[in-house]
Amino acid sequence: EAKAAGGDGSVVYDSRTTGQAAGRLDLQSDLRVALERDELFLEYQPIIELDAEQAVGFEALLRWRHREHGLIMPDTFIPIAEETGLIVPIGTWVLNEALAQVQRWRSNVPGAGNLWAAVNISARQLVTPDFPDIVHTAALAAGIDPAAVNLEITETVLMEQPELPSETLHRLHDLGVGLSIDDFGTGYSSLSYIQWMSARTLKIDRSFIEVLDTDPQRASIIELILGMARTLDLIVIAEGVETPNQLAELRRLGVHHAQGYLWSKAMPADQVTAWLT
Ligand code: C2E
Ligand code: MG
Ligand code: MG
Ligand code: MG
Repeated sequence: EAKAAGGDGSVVYDSRTTGQAAGRLDLQSDLRVALERDELFLEYQPIIELDAEQAVGFEALLRWRHREHGLIMPDTFIPIAEETGLIVPIGTWVLNEALAQVQRWRSNVPGAGNLWAAVNISARQLVTPDFPDIVHTAALAAGIDPAAVNLEITETVLMEQPELPSETLHRLHDLGVGLSIDDFGTGYSSLSYIQWMSARTLKIDRSFIEVLDTDPQRASIIELILGMARTLDLIVIAEGVETPNQLAELRRLGVHHAQGYLWSKAMPADQVTAWLT
């Protein structure tokens, strides 16, 4: 039976019996065949526009249904996928799957014609020379407008990867694909860097939202982020909104987009149509 991921990102299910290193090796070889065994799947979490309180997009979030261990969450296996390079084929699969799925909703669900598709991307993918082609091909195959695609890159990854290939950025911009800075506030990216990469959106990390109720100091940090976002013409998305009180505070601060359990957890694709209607 699965216990999925520990809060610290470690593998919990067998750490007491085999130790974490052995557990990781085990997962590493299993991950090599997870794609072909059809064990990976995506869940989708709505991104909400706060004025109308309507979904404007969905973020695809990867899950692994392991034969023995059951459901394993990305914080546990994405690092393994990154170390082994498996994130490149897995990431390509995620792109194709997510863009095709979101386009199905855009085509088939009344009022959903403008939904964005948000897809998380690892540095390893971004530095693959043919990455823009992979995105382009996935968008063409899905029949989705590349402008409806938002690639999410965590701020810490960006900072560890200072030589983000500018050729890649240019080609993604030419395609019309948007870039999103994920988990913003956890790294130390500079204003000029964000301007250089011309991101479209910035996602404020959940840790800043969580403490809005208790720590008013955090509100001023969010105000700073909002000021910067206005200057750079970025869409700001608050991540991990769980309580009506946080929502009220975010509205007061002038945040217009959010994601969180207050509206919905990530859900399997087949539940989204019902959720939307
Ligand atoms: P992320 O991109 O920052 O995604 C947000 C995470 O917060 C998701 O966890 C989501 O389920 C969770 N979340 C959303 N709303 C709430 C809330 O209100 N409260 C709480 N407590 N949590 C909330 P998840 O699905 O476990 O994903 C974790 C991370 O794994 C993601 O963080 C992302 O960095 C990475 N990841 C997920 N899918 C992929 C993928 O396809 N490729 C890559 N490279 N990374 C992925
Ligand atoms: Mg994300
Ligand atoms: Mg995030
Ligand atoms: Mg995150």
